[in-house]
Amino acid sequence: MSEAATLLSSLRVMLIDDDAFQLKLIGLLLRQLGVQPPSSHAQARAALAALDTDTVDLIVCDLQMPDLDGVEFLRHLAERRFAGQVALVSGEDKRLLRTVEQLGRAHGLQMLGALSKPVALADVQALLARWPTGQERRAVVRQRRPLAELQQAIEQRQLVAHYQPKVELASGRWIGVEALVRWEHPSLGLLYPDVFIEQAEEAGLIGELTVALIEGLPERPGVFGQMRQWLDEGLQLQCAVNVSMAMLTDPHLPDQLQARLAQARVPPSHLILEVTESRLMEDARTVLDILTRMRLKRIGLSIDDFGTGHSSLAQLRDVPFGELKVDRSFVHHAHNRPELQALLRASLQMGHQLGMKTVAEGIEDEKDWRYLRSLGCDIAQGYFIARPQPAEKLVEWHAAWRQRQAGLVA
Ligand code: C2E
Ligand code: MG
Ligand code: MG
Repeated sequence: MSEAATLLSSLRVMLIDDDAFQLKLIGLLLRQLGVQPPSSHAQARAALAALDTDTVDLIVCDLQMPDLDGVEFLRHLAERRFAGQVALVSGEDKRLLRTVEQLGRAHGLQMLGALSKPVALADVQALLARWPTGQERRAVVRQRRPLAELQQAIEQRQLVAHYQPKVELASGRWIGVEALVRWEHPSLGLLYPDVFIEQAEEAGLIGELTVALIEGLPERPGVFGQMRQWLDEGLQLQCAVNVSMAMLTDPHLPDQLQARLAQARVPPSHLILEVTESRLMEDARTVLDILTRMRLKRIGLSIDDFGTGHSSLAQLRDVPFGELKVDRSFVHHAHNRPELQALLRASLQMGHQLGMKTVAEGIEDEKDWRYLRSLGCDIAQGYFIARPQPAEKLVEWHAAWRQRQAGLVA
């Protein structure tokens, strides 16, 4: 059986629609595609009562139901920390559907996509084709682990970096990577940062976590060791590391980073700190002091997730950023969404006028790529180019990318 067929036959689906005909129809289409018979419900409340969040992989639900509307339903799923995928079915206008999807994402739900009524086989097929595969298939674990476990993970260096390539939009040239932390949990598999970063911040462990990621282990290089390795291989790559402002409380940090870079024999200009604002930021002056001194030491600064509530104009005014990363929520699909276009263009223009490099994250398909290229954005990052992956896989990726590159910059 192919990987896709195996996936489909193993999926456990819950269907909710008050329209008995739709319920039957979607069930039938799913079965035609090799999915096991779904558990079907005409009422949302009954479905919630029957839902076992540990065993259901996909919930397909109508946006309009008499006993509970789609927004309320998603809120319940979020409260129950449902970690599977969610797809919405609707006859409503597309904009509303997207708003509800956004809301689902904001709740931390995995929104697979939407189906418009009348639903056809090709639509269901297209929906399931978006199922996350392989490496990036999110671990089912969405709940926090006990703090002691996280502490131990940091001490024992169970935290590793995966690297996502960044390429120049004009030339397609590979110019850098972003290091993204993963927790190799001894029994649960790979855990993603959304499960533990906030917890680490709250517990004051984010500094230690970052150091663990940078240092690695003798048998497995950390981020700086990896940067050295790339230099030895003749690759000139900038590497971005994420830091939240909550971490920037220690005035010795710039000197410590500088010393670690020197120890690893990596020029500071190869490091970029991607900064996100944090709810926990207490002392803005210290943060500004630290960031400015990083810059004086030639470490790069990037404002991450620009355009979201966490990254604001005030930061752009106050901090000497060299790079502006537009949040992915403004990037994917912007080519056919005028409301995103306005915000995206304005952000890029502002970045350029301030002399910054602009990066678009969340480039998921060729249309995103071509659109951002046409807008003159400098750098691209996203699943279309590559998923985050262990460093050793990037050699293979680069070879494949070179094949694709020519066609994308023509
Ligand atoms: P971020 O810095 O904005 O990182 C980009 C996130 O978008 C990553 O998720 C990446 O896997 C994902 N991504 C990349 N390309 C695409 C795409 O085309 N489409 C979509 N939908 N997503 C894409 P990840 O690795 O789960 O990281 C989530 C966030 O966790 C990061 O957002 C960053 O804020 C935080 N984080 C990750 N590693 C660290 C770390 O070492 N330290 C700190 N403090 N925060 C970290
Ligand atoms: Mg980042
Ligand atoms: Mg970001």
